[in-house]
Amino acid sequence: MPIRRLSEDMVNRIAAGEVVERPASVVKELVENAIDAGATRIEIVTAGGGASLIRVSDDGGGIGRDDLPLAVERHCTSKLDGGLDDIRSLGFRGEALAAVGAAARLTVTSRRTGADGAWSITVEGGRVGPIEPAALSQGTRIEVRDLFFATPARLKFLRSERAEASAITDVVRRLAMAHPEIRFALSGSDRTALDLPGVTGEDARRARLGDVMGRDFRDNAIAIEAAREGARLAGFAGLPTFSRANSLGQFLFVNGRPVRDKLLLGALRAAYADLMKRDRHPVAVLFIEIEPREVDVNVHPTKADVRFRDSGLVRGLIIGAIREAFAASGPRTSSTAASATIEAFRPAGRPPMRPPSWRPAGYGGGGAAARVMGFAEEAQAAFDIAMPSADVRAVSSDPETVSQPLGAAMAQVHDTYVVAQTADGLVIVDQHAAHERLVYERLKRGMETTGVARQILLIPDIVDLAPDDAARLTERAEDLAALGLVLEPFGPGAVAVRETPSMLGPIDAGALVRDLAEEIAEWERADTLRDRLEAVASRMACHGSVRAGRRLKPEEMDALLREIEATPNASECNHGRPTFIELKLADIERLFGRR
Ligand code: ADP
Ligand code: MG
Repeated sequence: MPIRRLSEDMVNRIAAGEVVERPASVVKELVENAIDAGATRIEIVTAGGGASLIRVSDDGGGIGRDDLPLAVERHCTSKLDGGLDDIRSLGFRGEALAAVGAAARLTVTSRRTGADGAWSITVEGGRVGPIEPAALSQGTRIEVRDLFFATPARLKFLRSERAEASAITDVVRRLAMAHPEIRFALSGSDRTALDLPGVTGEDARRARLGDVMGRDFRDNAIAIEAAREGARLAGFAGLPTFSRANSLGQFLFVNGRPVRDKLLLGALRAAYADLMKRDRHPVAVLFIEIEPREVDVNVHPTKADVRFRDSGLVRGLIIGAIREAFAASGPRTSSTAASATIEAFRPAGRPPMRPPSWRPAGYGGGGAAARVMGFAEEAQAAFDIAMPSADVRAVSSDPETVSQPLGAAMAQVHDTYVVAQTADGLVIVDQHAAHERLVYERLKRGMETTGVARQILLIPDIVDLAPDDAARLTERAEDLAALGLVLEPFGPGAVAVRETPSMLGPIDAGALVRDLAEEIAEWERADTLRDRLEAVASRMACHGSVRAGRRLKPEEMDALLREIEATPNASECNHGRPTFIELKLADIERLFGRR
């Protein structure tokens, strides 16, 4: 087949496919245009998940009559004054309106500020109509109907109306987070409406995030603020216990532009690596401000990827700022876990505290006597389940310590949890999780400073292993020694453990060494030696920690509480579970209907 030049119409449709993937991408482009136009109010209406209608109206500067044909023509833009390496607007490619016009029925109606009338232009499947007078008091209104009618192949890839509608909501939420001063109103027959009033002032960003992300996030996130060599980072990072099973709770912005950039997402993951299980994902909203010349946004037509000139700087900024913020924030744990528990306790709906077969008096058939009897037996059965395992050991604690953040130890229950009284509530500590975290933090500190104290085994412990496991461990003997574990080869399939980290106490050296061999086998995945050693330390901590089920003396309990308070990152165990939860007196009072 001979080579032929594609018709302009065909070129436009091919290009349109890159910019306009689905209705949400249209909304993104149109809302970005409105933001670039200086709008203070942006209204979005959709129908049929955006496939039948998208209408975006703004009160921005508008488009002059003679510019209308250019606005819908490909490669025409009013935004590229400073060149490609100094982009200060969200748009710059001059492609979006042309792409939408090629794939749908597009009407642009606009009134330029100061002009004495409004004008409109229509494009249907790439055919541009005449400029016509229109009625509009201010700004621009873009209407898109029958998206993809001209490119039916694309139409087949649309998901359900609901899925497309919710993708649109997500796009609007992302853009709204970065622009709290603008009012966003999203409505339509295919959705529940979203109305975000514009907010200004110092706390505008936090207020907008609260409106968009919900109160839960605001209550379970800490503020991040850092700067390094001309790059600034601000935003909020969710507590490690406030994690999610996917990364949908991560919102990243570069100079006000929502991005889904691998480098940034990777940095976020690394910042939490130490605080969270591998299959959990942090929730965070981070805004990076950087000189436009230091970042290339022209990587992909959708502008969701960016390239930093100095990616190490940005990565370091994110990891450093988040880690420091958590280390400095002191003991805090997610409030949602506690409130969920309270919901479980509260006598509302079907009360979970009662045995499931319990019925209110008068329910169903049967005589009165039978009902009373039945209840008594069932109630007794419920106690029978609860009583035998209850083992509450009271502790007389120093009353002074009640004023400490984690309070005074009052009791150990089920040989697993330490209950403490605080000034305004009570704290329940998972002793194993807490101790594991403390040991881990101590190991890390030791590793960074003087080395980890070791204790010599009287008789070396010979551990049989698979030959490559043994080889792997002896290759790393020097790194392990820095963590307090001294071992040497003992024939082809064994190692001799001579010293162990003393803070772990008496441990099963065989189990530890086998576990570490497994960790080291995975080392290719971790990126730096430091990360690797931290992973080793984390495994070690697990071995040396006070197991659930060990009885603690009163002074051990108090010491545990005080050390949690004094240790950075101690609110979560190495697997991202909380090490303690707190119930406020007010919550307890609510349980008893006192409030
Ligand atoms: P880009 O945003 O990359 O410039 P678009 O195709 O999205 O390309 O828009 C083309 C041009 O149309 C813009 O450069 C701008 O001048 C104008 N325009 C589009 N939407 C609006 C709007 N809502 N308000 C004012 N001008 C607009
Ligand atoms: Mg644009």
